[in-house]
Amino acid sequence: SAVRTAINALQRYKVLNTLTNDCFDKALETEQQLSNEQKNNSPLYGRPILIKDNYCLQDIYTTCASKMLANFRAPYTSTIVQRLIDSGCIIVGKTNMDEFSMGVASWGVFGPVGNPWSVKKATNIDEENLKKLLHVAGGSSGGSAAAVAANFVSIALGSDTGGSVRNPAARCGCYGFKPSYGLLSRYGMIALVNSFDSPGIFTRNIDDLILTINAIAGPDGEDATLLSKPFERFQSSTELLKDKKKITIGLPDEYDINKLSSEYRSCLQDLVVQLTATGEFTFKRVQLPYASYSNAAYTILSSCEIASNMSRYDGIKYGHHTNNIDESKDTYEDILRKTRDESLSERVRGRILAGNYYLLEENYEKYFVQSQRVRRGVTNDYTKVFEEDKVDCLLAPVVSDDPITHAEYEQSDTIFTDDDIFTVGANLAGLPALSFPVQVSSKGFPIGLQLIGPFLQDQALLSIANRIC
Ligand code: GLN
Repeated sequence: SAVRTAINALQRYKVLNTLTNDCFDKALETEQQLSNEQKNNSPLYGRPILIKDNYCLQDIYTTCASKMLANFRAPYTSTIVQRLIDSGCIIVGKTNMDEFSMGVASWGVFGPVGNPWSVKKATNIDEENLKKLLHVAGGSSGGSAAAVAANFVSIALGSDTGGSVRNPAARCGCYGFKPSYGLLSRYGMIALVNSFDSPGIFTRNIDDLILTINAIAGPDGEDATLLSKPFERFQSSTELLKDKKKITIGLPDEYDINKLSSEYRSCLQDLVVQLTATGEFTFKRVQLPYASYSNAAYTILSSCEIASNMSRYDGIKYGHHTNNIDESKDTYEDILRKTRDESLSERVRGRILAGNYYLLEENYEKYFVQSQRVRRGVTNDYTKVFEEDKVDCLLAPVVSDDPITHAEYEQSDTIFTDDDIFTVGANLAGLPALSFPVQVSSKGFPIGLQLIGPFLQDQALLSIANRIC
């Protein structure tokens, strides 16, 4: 059975640490109850899938890879997860991630996700030694990306706030799609930065992406930021291929950063040469002057929203609650402090602290308001290249070099990287973006690139991708 095969693969490659918790028994039971007739009629019916552990699934642990939520069972199911269940998908587990989606290594309280390509390269090595050789899978949705890339399942959900779907997709070698802001409901997806957060999808081909979007998009009264107009189903990839219009693709100068390795730069240039030769594509250099400020604006704005969002984790209504209470003198603040000290990593607490600092009355104008202006500038830059330079989409790197090992990451532990410049722009402006695998590097890692399209031109973007890939 399809579910059994997925479970076997997940168990066999446990060393990759892709799951935070599983629903193997329930999945097998659900599969038993499927009728063959329904299975044949719907391509999603009976499909084993995985969802990032920041999506609520009723009665199942939803941990965000944090000690804070280690014992939290969601009381309800997220809208898009429910729609996948209704389409016949079978959830086999929740995937590993960075704590509360902060980071690029998918390394929360359950330890790091391993890059499947490390395993592919290593032969005759026992599990313990292999563990020491693993490279990062990217993040924060690395468990989902690794599981799809390694063919454990064909579809997985992630979330993308500043690149958390596109980054691990590029690192692991699969498709990672972050749609336009407002296309997919965020209801039941635990918020990191509400104004940037978008659900995202991992697959190994564009057909599965389209199938998944068609199953989950559409109005939802539970998410006020969702587009209210009815969703028009995306056409299948064969339909999309009939569109023979010549495509103009923009290459932003600002994304050609120093850190971009020569191999990754060549990968992009080679693709440009190849596509130009087909006669169907033209390329154009374009400028996004605000891009150089986008990492700063992202850091500040995300921290501010995080500070506000995380205030719900006080350990009173749900989540971790300290046992170390001195009834005679501890105030509410003392209990709150102990609860958070015990259950949130330094990284998460640091982000909350930074956000509260930026939001202090004397800093508000200097940081928050100024970053909002940059956000507007970034958005206008994109609008300008799409409207005035008349490019259909942009082609850009996702990361600038091969992944480092877990050991190296431990030394350098950082949430933000220079590479964020490639990804955060689409979140600041709410644009659709698709990371896709292009080639394998000399050291044996996948190199991914991304397409970024105009707001709500999601179908057109997938159509272009379909012609490229
Ligand atoms: N590195 C980004 C951050 O920590 C990733 C966020 C995301 O997309 N979830 O903010």
